[in-house]
Amino acid sequence: MVYIVGAGPGAEDLITVRGFKLLQQADLVIYAGSLVNPSLLKETKEGCRILNSAKMTLEEVMEEIKHGEENGLTTVRLHTGDPCLYGAIREQMDHMDSMQIPYEICPGVSSFCGAAAALEMEYTLPGISQSVIITRMEGRTAVPERERIRKLAAHKATMVIFLSAGMLKELEEELLSGGYNKDTPAAIVYKATWPEEKLFRCKLGELSETGRQERISKTALIIVGDTAAQKGYERSKLYHPQFETGFRNKKD
Ligand code: SAH
Repeated sequence: MVYIVGAGPGAEDLITVRGFKLLQQADLVIYAGSLVNPSLLKETKEGCRILNSAKMTLEEVMEEIKHGEENGLTTVRLHTGDPCLYGAIREQMDHMDSMQIPYEICPGVSSFCGAAAALEMEYTLPGISQSVIITRMEGRTAVPERERIRKLAAHKATMVIFLSAGMLKELEEELLSGGYNKDTPAAIVYKATWPEEKLFRCKLGELSETGRQERISKTALIIVGDTAAQKGYERSKLYHPQFETGFRNKKD
């Protein structure tokens, strides 16, 4: 059996209880070495084989999984954050399907949640934005033309941008040409929830300069949008005395 497990954003105690137990039971752990906190690996049992997938190809990972399965091992494929975002898990599941290897996914806390916690931020503020756009700049992986940052920026929703810390100048230009103005609040969150976490709040017009000064080029998320100021919102209807919900009657 193979468990695809989300390791969480960084802090070793931000893995789920289920993921933690699976890690303790595993005979083979293949972890995404570039971003998974290595302290999590201390939780594995004695004799557990541990491989760093940052040094492996998809074929090599699959070969190890197949070999493990033939020997009746419990395998944990440990991905950073939640595996559903930029985790390249579909191709692994397709390989496992073709080899009839059973698998299950255990979700994790994505770094975009870790970043919001670090910033003490609610992404969805009534009266400002009710949507979060998770996207990235194009890198080696192409981004469809219709999803270019400038097009998504036109919504002026809250945007959380992954995998783009090395392209802050281009990112800033794209966001500005899409319709945000230079004064739109923004933040760079470096290594959210890790001990070395750093937060930089700035205006969009200062984004690339802030990144340059602080030497941020990887393992960061960029948050942009009027919600980043966390001001000027309307209070929620959910907890408003004048509104009833299925759980609460109106109060005068
Ligand atoms: N599945 C992961 C994302 C993997 S893509 C998740 O759910 O978080 C890798 C990118 O995620 C990095 O380039 C960076 O943009 C972001 N990232 C991952 N962990 C991070 C962290 N702790 N702090 C800030 N950004 C992080």
